[in-house]
Amino acid sequence: MQVITSIQEMQKTSLEIKRTGATIGCVPTMGFFHRGHLSLMEGSRAENDFTVVSLFVNPTQFGENEDFDEYPRDLERDKDLAEKAGVDILFVPAPGEMYPENFSTFVNVYGLTDEMCGASRPGHFRGVTTVVSKLFNIILPNRAYFGQKDAQQALVVQRMVEDLNFPVEIRVMPIIREDDGLAMSSRNTYLSKREREAALVIPKSLEAGRALLEQGEKRAALVAEKISAVIKREPLACIDYLVVKDAVTLKDIEEIKGRVLVAVAVWIGKTRLIDNFIFESPQRRT
Ligand code: AMP
Repeated sequence: MQVITSIQEMQKTSLEIKRTGATIGCVPTMGFFHRGHLSLMEGSRAENDFTVVSLFVNPTQFGENEDFDEYPRDLERDKDLAEKAGVDILFVPAPGEMYPENFSTFVNVYGLTDEMCGASRPGHFRGVTTVVSKLFNIILPNRAYFGQKDAQQALVVQRMVEDLNFPVEIRVMPIIREDDGLAMSSRNTYLSKREREAALVIPKSLEAGRALLEQGEKRAALVAEKISAVIKREPLACIDYLVVKDAVTLKDIEEIKGRVLVAVAVWIGKTRLIDNFIFESPQRRT
């Protein structure tokens, strides 16, 4: 596995790969790899000749009072895991390389970023879409792999790619969970033992919501109430947002119809965790 830190070298290497007619799959990450990241790498390897994983804790997607400084980092461990996963190139740019002093261009997707994580974390998606645009221009991928865990991020990136005509296919991969159901996240390392137990309320509450939907419940508000009631039983948990939305437009819905996104962000102590599922409601017979 090659480790590249310079933008110029990365772009030159990608241009050389593309010139031979080979395809590139890219997996943008902030590192501290877990099986969620590894599943994206596997997805890329299965569909492309070369897999480039970027590892960059992107300062522009963190708010001022957020966890940029504490975000877990372990480059040696990540290199080892990426190498074992069969990654061809690990791209690890320095912050000064990605954002030099006179940097002043940002990419912003409007509308889709107004609520959920966009409302709780102002400026977050502007940082995400800016860094992803830069990574696409540097890595020149044919396909890019994102996790359904960050459901809104996947939709926002897809919107940006369509609106700005990036020649990149976006692939969204399923949420990978711990054995007990907690969605894998680099931020799970922040949790104390007691908080880790409390965090289980997140997947449990979503399962309760899903069970209602599977029983045929059509009132979105009742599904949300059920999920909220389960979370509120856990004293360490505090709901940041809980939404039942159209999975494509992110519009609020009253009646369960078509593809529905049920998503939550929950504070467990000082750690904010997100999780979601998509429910395909059965077509009505005519
Ligand atoms: P991050 O390093 O947290 O920015 O995540 C990098 C990519 O991995 C993003 O596309 C995430 O959506 C994806 N990802 C993170 N956690 C999971 C998970 N548990 N399952 C699947 N994909 C994930």
